[in-house]
Amino acid sequence: MKIAIYPGTFDPITNGHIDIIERASHLFDKIIVTVARNPSKKPLLTVQERVFLIQQVVDDMETEAVILVEPFEGLIVDFAREKKANAIIRGLRAVSDFEYELQMALVNRRLAPEVSTVFLMPHEKYTYLNSTIVKEVASFGGDISNFVPPVVRLKLEAKFPHLKE
Ligand code: ADP
Repeated sequence: MKIAIYPGTFDPITNGHIDIIERASHLFDKIIVTVARNPSKKPLLTVQERVFLIQQVVDDMETEAVILVEPFEGLIVDFAREKKANAIIRGLRAVSDFEYELQMALVNRRLAPEVSTVFLMPHEKYTYLNSTIVKEVASFGGDISNFVPPVVRLKLEAKFPHLKE
């Protein structure tokens, strides 16, 4: 059984993340979307809210792979070992992602040589997309329906109600 974890902050999950999960589902039997608490990034949504949104999104996906969603705090390689995963999935959008991702992949490999980082490229239409820009647009009452699934849009609209007419 090929098991991978897909770690991230997912504050919130976007169509870019979903594209990566979809691609990974053709390569792995089981994918564990791993939601990092990441207080240093001062997330808008709580871990529970982020997990709940991702769960709703993956429940709607038609895939042969089993997709689980779990919160996590600590070293990602420890979580991978605990889950018997031999791959960490990361999305690469542009060269700007590369330096940080390479560093993290090499550190993780030093810590756990049996776990490989697998980089997947999303569809070009998602290369500009990240959670921060989605929150910014939502905070000014902009239309985010092309960037996130409906459940996420509703959640963000509820978070920024004062900006809606
Ligand atoms: P992190 O805090 O670990 O960067 P993110 O939630 O921002 O968490 O991203 C998790 C993973 O998903 C990262 O590998 C990131 O590069 C990738 N990712 C984020 N947005 C996109 C996107 N639009 N297309 C493809 N991959 C993405």
